[in-house]
Amino acid sequence: MKDSNNFFRLQNRLESQAGKAIADFKMIEDGDRILVCMSGGKDSYTMLSVLSALQKRAPVNFELIAMNLDQKQPGFPEEVLPAYLESTGVAYRIVTADTYSIVKEKVPEGKTTCSLCSRLRRGIIYRTAKELGANKIALGHHRDDIVETFFLNMFFGGKLKGMPPKLATDDGAHVVIRPLAYCSESDIARYAADMAYPIIPCNLCGSQENLQRQKVKEMLVAWERETPGRVDSVFRALTQVVPSHLADTSLFDFKGLASNLATIDEASLFGRAAYEQDALVFSHAGETAISFVRPVGRVGGVA
Ligand code: SF4
Repeated sequence: MKDSNNFFRLQNRLESQAGKAIADFKMIEDGDRILVCMSGGKDSYTMLSVLSALQKRAPVNFELIAMNLDQKQPGFPEEVLPAYLESTGVAYRIVTADTYSIVKEKVPEGKTTCSLCSRLRRGIIYRTAKELGANKIALGHHRDDIVETFFLNMFFGGKLKGMPPKLATDDGAHVVIRPLAYCSESDIARYAADMAYPIIPCNLCGSQENLQRQKVKEMLVAWERETPGRVDSVFRALTQVVPSHLADTSLFDFKGLASNLATIDEASLFGRAAYEQDALVFSHAGETAISFVRPVGRVGGVA
């Protein structure tokens, strides 16, 4: 319910998580003109509402221009987004480009159309940003999209790589930002339902959602059901990377690692009194378990 306490708590949470992501990654600066990409799905509607709310109380001035690309998919309700955007008072631009026909013509029957479709869409978004003088492009991807992409890249691409909350376009002309990077999909879905956004279905093109992504999504839903909080934990792991404990030689100089015990003054390392109090040593506790215990008096031959 839009006027319940639960709704306001949810709204506050989404706005403060977006505010934190914006601050952590310096997504928005004074004078920015931001093109907000609207697909008509729950994520983009939520993003626009959250950005509009933050704009009213931000310490910096920035502009929002909503954009929708009408790709001429059969049955696309072209009046829905303009009517909604008019009601919000946010400036907007509707761009029409028949990428649907191009994709149908170029991609053989039965093959997935998403890759060409997204490339075409990306090109049109960048061109529109340029025309409108927008230096930032906001996309509605959320925390769960980022975690899914991370597993997709790991399982099917052999890479530890996710979807960054902020990146520069290849030509350096724009910065892409994802203000919902810290927000969970379930919160967004509940918020969108409470807000009763006029959602446009995302299967109008007739293409199946990427099957591998669907599998990863199901895996994460099952994990979350079994162990609530796991997706959040994976996301937090992406923000606390320890290159010295992975195995990428381009990120950490493993070859340069060498023991330099001979040059270390042991007392300065540990501080003898502190060492005697705090050092932990291995102790066999029975046949199968090993535990750490606090030493009493002498420890392993160190006085
Ligand atoms: S699902 Fe359809 S509209 Fe979306 S990227 Fe794929 S082909 Fe394009």
